[in-house]
Amino acid sequence: MKRFQCKICGFIYDESIGDPEHAIKAGTRWEYLPENWTCPECGVSKTDFEMVEIGVMDNPVIIVGSGLAGYAVARELRKLDTELPIIMLSADHGGFYSKPMLSNALSGGKTPESILNGDAAQMASQLKISIRPHCRVVAIDQSRNSVTLVDGEKIFYDQLVLALGADQVRLPLQGDGVAKILTVNDLDDYQSFRDALIGKKRISIIGAGLIGCEFANDLAATGYQVDVIDINARPLGRLLPPAGGAFIQQKLEAAGVVFHLNATTQSVDQVKEHLCLTLTSGETIESDIVFSAVGLRPRTQLAEAAGIQVNRGIVVNRLLQTQFTNIYALGDCAEVESKVLPFVMPITHAARALAATLAGNPTSVCYPAMPVMVKTPSCPTVVSPPDFSVNGEWHIEADKDGVKALYQDEAGILLGYALLGAATKEKNNLTAQLPPVLM
Ligand SMILES: Cc1cc2nc3c(=O)[nH]c(=O)nc-3n(C[C@H](O)[C@H](O)[C@H](O)COP(=O)(O)OP(=O)(O)OC[C@H]3O[C@@H](n4cnc5c(N)ncnc54)[C@H](O)[C@@H]3O)c2cc1C
Repeated sequence: MKRFQCKICGFIYDESIGDPEHAIKAGTRWEYLPENWTCPECGVSKTDFEMVEIGVMDNPVIIVGSGLAGYAVARELRKLDTELPIIMLSADHGGFYSKPMLSNALSGGKTPESILNGDAAQMASQLKISIRPHCRVVAIDQSRNSVTLVDGEKIFYDQLVLALGADQVRLPLQGDGVAKILTVNDLDDYQSFRDALIGKKRISIIGAGLIGCEFANDLAATGYQVDVIDINARPLGRLLPPAGGAFIQQKLEAAGVVFHLNATTQSVDQVKEHLCLTLTSGETIESDIVFSAVGLRPRTQLAEAAGIQVNRGIVVNRLLQTQFTNIYALGDCAEVESKVLPFVMPITHAARALAATLAGNPTSVCYPAMPVMVKTPSCPTVVSPPDFSVNGEWHIEADKDGVKALYQDEAGILLGYALLGAATKEKNNLTAQLPPVLM
């Protein structure tokens, strides 16, 4: 961020502050000031007088996190500014890969190596940024613009981007087998999961949401015996109306998956070589591996400890900005205007807007309708759930080939949909009719 001084009256334009009284947002670079902007003190026009650069803060943009969100911002920012110093700090290996691939990688025989698109060194050279893998940030000092690493090193930033992701939720279960429950939330987890599967046959999945159903389909297609346990009456209970849930359940059952619905897992115990799940109904399920997919919790602790406002996620405005003007958040860790959307498409839109803001052109994020494809090849499914704040009803057409469920208001306006099987071919047509998620 730079500062410029009016040669006529001495007024300082500070890019990090902007000129809020005249609707120039904090972070607006000098070159993005409108040509009709005038000096707030003496009224001299931008073109009529020279501003003198009196100070340059040459600290980098620091991006914490090397997931899809961290990389999307780095890539978009590089398109806009080839010189800006960017440092990416990551608690993990720092390489780039597509996380959604993890839930249908087994049946395709994909190894972690084949999923990785580029390691940290390759990505650093490609994007001309500095990447520090295995480098956990343990504190943020927003008053000094610095982050502290686990070894005590401090790094100063000009602008800080938090792309910290989310943790898999762990249920408070009883039993001496609980520590053996696996989750897959990143590439290292996928490696551990693959290793654990060697020589095993029976897998129990706790949670029949998006990730649980995708893994169930993938494991069944790879030849494993799969039990899925969920508290809801149908799989994908939070995303689909009952007819949609029933359809996908039937297709996954045909693929070999056994569902235990309206069921709550109480304990997981080690019984000789195996794990035994006990449900609150008293039913028991013998497994070689227990896998949990019961939801995500945004990583907010680092921000909260630094006094950054958090709610369900790290609270940001439409500029992806926390209450501190040079600290931003996006991706699974962020809550944008009360919405926590842990999917890829919101990241793509947020990263473009944030990159423009970081490059000096404050830009609000807009989300169009963003349908989510459920990667269950046994039952192609795409869903655009209605916003929780809208009122409407499901209108359902179902036959043996598919389900078309439209969520409409009283006037017949389409607010959401769920398409399964043959009905998925209507995705593009229906998506075009949906309202944007954030205008
Ligand atoms: C199995 C699976 C399948 C999915 N399938 C789909 C799909 O089909 N479609 C879809 O839209 N979405 C899907 N998603 C969701 C999507 O993958 C995520 O929304 C997205 O990858 C999140 O990216 P992120 O960068 O926000 O978080 P993450 O990928 O979790 O990255 C967070 C990064 O922050 C780092 N980090 C955290 N804390 C610190 C710290 N203190 N210091 C330094 N670094 C830190 C981590 O090491 C990591 O590099 C899926 C998710 C999973 C788990």
